[in-house]
Amino acid sequence: MQTQQYDSLYLFINGQWLSAGDRETSAVINPANGTTLGRLPLATNADLDQALITAGESFPVWRNTVPDDRARIMKKAAALMRERAEHIATLMTLEEGKPLSESRDEVQRAADYFEWFAEEARRIDGRVVPANRPGVQQLVKRQAIGPVAAFTPWNFPAITPARKLSAALAAGCSVILKPGEESPATALALARCLDEAGLPKGVLQIVFGVPDKVSSKLITSPIIRKVAFTGSVPVGRLLSERAAAGVKPISLELGGHGPVLVFEDADIEEAATNGAANRFRGTGQICISSTRFLVQRNAYERFVQRFVEATENLVIGDGMEPGTQVGPLANERQLEKMAALVEDAVTQGATVLTGGKRINRSGFFFEPTVLANVPMSARIMHEEPFGPIAIMRPFDTIKDGLEEANRLPYALSAYAFTSSARTALDVGDGLEAGMIGINQYRIIATELPFGGMKESGHGSEGGREGIAPYLTNKFISQI
Ligand code: NAD
Repeated sequence: MQTQQYDSLYLFINGQWLSAGDRETSAVINPANGTTLGRLPLATNADLDQALITAGESFPVWRNTVPDDRARIMKKAAALMRERAEHIATLMTLEEGKPLSESRDEVQRAADYFEWFAEEARRIDGRVVPANRPGVQQLVKRQAIGPVAAFTPWNFPAITPARKLSAALAAGCSVILKPGEESPATALALARCLDEAGLPKGVLQIVFGVPDKVSSKLITSPIIRKVAFTGSVPVGRLLSERAAAGVKPISLELGGHGPVLVFEDADIEEAATNGAANRFRGTGQICISSTRFLVQRNAYERFVQRFVEATENLVIGDGMEPGTQVGPLANERQLEKMAALVEDAVTQGATVLTGGKRINRSGFFFEPTVLANVPMSARIMHEEPFGPIAIMRPFDTIKDGLEEANRLPYALSAYAFTSSARTALDVGDGLEAGMIGINQYRIIATELPFGGMKESGHGSEGGREGIAPYLTNKFISQI
């Protein structure tokens, strides 16, 4: 039986909202209690063929829609998202588990992206370059790159689709989006807003299925000219190989293992209290989350004590219940991963300062966990802990701190706390990460480029930089 507040689920192909019919389906589970919210239709091979043909046909229609009209439709869609924010946020909390207040905020931020990129659509200009031969005119144009295949995960069901769709649509691209199968209703609700705002038929299509089959089919099709993916490093690597075979550019937003350097001259209380809130937000399932707390030795005990206190004060529960600060993990698989990471660390000598196990209630709840004395050989010192586990580790000099912060192939987010302007400058320069917060954990804004370095990916989403991956350069030299 379907939950009352939850929407029916569809594929959105060639302007049609397609229900399951004879198609295979998968269950969408409420992670707070394990009940089935609905059944998700999975695209057949014929559905994907149709989506590809439509993406090819709708591309010139949208590319030739003038910027003002593209902007108007995107802004109208953003207004509809704001109007429906309460409903969309409820869908998100039911299917993903995060507290309703965070879902509400995410819907507003998704709408922000559509508004921001609606304006950017009007600023796609080119250049007239002086020629070195008389009588020659040289124009450099930036044009929409072509139909896009975009893949987004389950943890931010509104903001990750919004970042990709808003930039691609502003540029004039058609898009086939495959959101995470665990939290599909949110992306469908955003697509409804775009559809009702007047987006021409087939410019945006939404498909679901077995991720590997869908991505293989879409990326290898000659119709698709650009790929965008948010998810784990191994899947990002696989999709890169597929894109490379067709010589297609790919934007990748992959995992992280965010270091936090806390210097002894910092506001330790703030770094610790906000650190715990940041680490356990989204139940730790956030790629830019702070995960490794590296604290200068003189401040270590004080920081750890405050961090553990703040962790133990967090209210854990169903995201639909008012006051909940930490919801469940997204699925059973995530629970198993957390238990295995803790067990591995403890077997090798780590100390559990708080938490460490599954919570005995229905749903996928795991205690917010703080580990200390974790040996370098433990898996968690190398693998992204995509869940509610924080690692505490002392350091002595800025050099030691930076060395540990930059040790891993991940380079997505990093944070530092200090009251010294000199130290702030030095860590800002020395940290290897695409996004750095100094004396704050809040680093995301619509106007800033979101993206990583090293194995955390490449290509920026958001900010003035965010539209470039969906454009291609062309010059016309005329005599
Ligand atoms: P996963 O790697 O199996 O899946 C991550 C996402 O990629 C999912 O949405 C999934 O549907 C999609 N995916 C998986 N295989 C795919 C394929 N062959 N083609 C296209 N899409 C594919 O991992 P998971 O167990 O679902 O999530 C946990 C891991 O994923 C974490 O360890 C984390 O590193 C990563 N993750 C990262 C982000 C992020 O924001 N960067 C978000 C969610 C998950």
